Amino acid sequence: MRVNEPPVADAGPTADALFTLAPEALLVLRGRRVIRANERVAALAGLDPTGRDITELVPDWRDPPDGEVPFDATLRRVDADDLPVEIRARTSSGGDAIVSFRDARALIAGRDAEIALNEAELRYRSLVEQIPAVVYADDGERTFYVSPQIRDILGVTPDAYRDDPDLWLRLVHPDDRAMVKAESDAFLTGDGGDLTDYRMVRPDGRVVWIRDRAYAFRDDEGRVLWEHGVLFDVTELKEAEARVAHLAYHDSLTGLPNRELFEQTLTLAVERAKRDGTSVGVLYLDLDNFKLVNDSLGHHAGDALLTALAERLRSCTRETDLVARQGGDEFLLVIADIEHGETDPAIRRVADRVLAAMAAPFDLHGVEFHAFGSIGVSVFPRDADSVEGLLRNADVAMYRAKRLEPGGCVLFSADEDDALGKLSYSSLLREAVAEERWMLHYQPVIDLNDRRVVGAEALIRSQDPFGGLLAPGEFIPAAEELGLIEAIGDWVIEEVARQQLAWLSEGLDLAISFNLSPRQLWTPRLADRVVERLRKLDLDPSKLTAEITESTAMADPDRTQRVLRELRAWGLGLAIDDFGTGYSSLSRLKHMPVDILKIDREFIRNVDRDVRLAGMVRAMIQVAHSLEMVAHAEGVETEDEYAFLRANGCRYAQGYWFARPMAADAFADLVRSGAPLGSVSTGRSLDGSPSPT
Ligand code: C2E
Ligand code: CA
Ligand code: CA
Repeated sequence: MRVNEPPVADAGPTADALFTLAPEALLVLRGRRVIRANERVAALAGLDPTGRDITELVPDWRDPPDGEVPFDATLRRVDADDLPVEIRARTSSGGDAIVSFRDARALIAGRDAEIALNEAELRYRSLVEQIPAVVYADDGERTFYVSPQIRDILGVTPDAYRDDPDLWLRLVHPDDRAMVKAESDAFLTGDGGDLTDYRMVRPDGRVVWIRDRAYAFRDDEGRVLWEHGVLFDVTELKEAEARVAHLAYHDSLTGLPNRELFEQTLTLAVERAKRDGTSVGVLYLDLDNFKLVNDSLGHHAGDALLTALAERLRSCTRETDLVARQGGDEFLLVIADIEHGETDPAIRRVADRVLAAMAAPFDLHGVEFHAFGSIGVSVFPRDADSVEGLLRNADVAMYRAKRLEPGGCVLFSADEDDALGKLSYSSLLREAVAEERWMLHYQPVIDLNDRRVVGAEALIRSQDPFGGLLAPGEFIPAAEELGLIEAIGDWVIEEVARQQLAWLSEGLDLAISFNLSPRQLWTPRLADRVVERLRKLDLDPSKLTAEITESTAMADPDRTQRVLRELRAWGLGLAIDDFGTGYSSLSRLKHMPVDILKIDREFIRNVDRDVRLAGMVRAMIQVAHSLEMVAHAEGVETEDEYAFLRANGCRYAQGYWFARPMAADAFADLVRSGAPLGSVSTGRSLDGSPSPT
């Protein structure tokens, strides 16, 4: 401070200091004469105006009291342009006036800055209020800001939201509320919870998925002073995620849940049952004749069947149950929350509904198809207490159903469990061998010229201990593996010889053939063994024909040739079975002493409609003729197939269109009736299972 300056009128040292230090330009007037000015004035005007008349400085000067209101004026400056200023004057009690100058440009700039500040806030605000999310700020109890988008996203007004501190939690979906509350508490103590997804239910009932991103301002002890955050509407995202999850947990063909989701659902159902003391049923459904569809009608038809079946199965269950595709032609059902006393009836009801749903024929691209399925059932807690155990036992029961009650439903039972293990299956087979629990069915062989029966193929059936009949496909492979096939084969030869002898004595002289398995063919001294048996019965070996599959014959052609020659030497007839499925070389075939070529049924099905098949079958018939063998077609199922074969020089045939395999007596009756076989009314059958009667 400059001590030699005259003191401000009426002012003490403090006022003096203020005068000197004030950021504004100030001067003191006595009358119109400047008696003092601070440095800001000098800086603005370019000179120290002390001692001058104020009008020299401000030509448009107004004396107080006029000048006491702020007025705009011009400040004349040295070596510079005039400066627009805002002037205020204040007359002090002593009569002097204190005058302040403000640079009007700075003022404008200041006002601009204020406007700019406002604009920035506006822009910021509009940013906050335009983004498709709700921005909020609160102090943990009271919301002091929430952006208006809350109207669009949650369907409530910002005011309502601010005024009702509980509204937010009330809008949270009831199922998510506990989780949200826990997350929110964790957030307040700083243990996470800053990013939470949850559902909210709008007042109009629509459910929206919210992603809540919260930020906190905390004091030194970590307590939240205030928080703000953003609520994003992630409903679409969640729906997209759900679609992806659906793909991962569902079978793409049928849209049904897959095995993975099934296991998850079953796990939850079992947990619930443990808690509530209820039961859970697992149904395992396997189609019995699916392969037939794929093989005969193609994969598109197979897909159509699975899709249609899935649709029907879906309608068999309650909301809380689940139908899943296990893969292939296997389906799984879980029946949850069954009262203990209700278990079996409840499961029966569902099983019946499933079987009933399958009963109506399926339309597979114009072909009517009857699907059959077998169901196995296991129950928690009766049959198993784990998911794996339940699935395994349902599977076991399903296999049992296939054997004992094809097309039916079988409940798992632990007592019989053993009987299904391989070990005991083998003992069953052994028992069957020991007790000779077998029978032969005979499928008529037809001469295509007159459709009359000229012979039959003997096909083995097994009576299982439960009263059913097993087709050879179900036990021949196991019997081979267990080394029981020779015993079975011996029985077949004796039985077919005994039967042939009986028929001959009744005056029925027909060509009867039987099948030799690969294992049989390779037993040492096969020819001797066979002939020995026939001799014992006094049957002329030429009254029987042995069938050997082409693939067996070609597996070791030299050896086969030797064995066949021996059999031939005794007069036995010989046929190559399933011709077309093995890889014969014609030069090999030429040296086999064979009478009949049985063309595999794969080539016969649709031979009248498929030019490729037709060409192959014609060629096979040609091969038979040129090797001086007789062509025999297997698996004739339609009149058109029959007509094609007949027109192309095939001599013999067998197939469902003529007759299914049947018991010996039925066969003899059929032969005696003398009627030509094959009827237009039989139609196409898609049931490939061997007819047991
Ligand atoms: P395979 O020798 O080819 O016997 C013909 C099979 O075709 C029989 O099945 C017969 O029921 C079935 N079939 C006949 N006509 C038709 C038809 O029009 N359509 C369809 N889809 N199928 C027809 P099966 O009785 O189930 O026998 C299956 C196989 O088991 C036989 O095939 C044969 O390889 C074997 N097998 C049967 N009996 C014996 C036997 O005594 N010993 C041995 N080692 N194998 C046997
Ligand atoms: Ca055969
Ligand atoms: Ca065959």
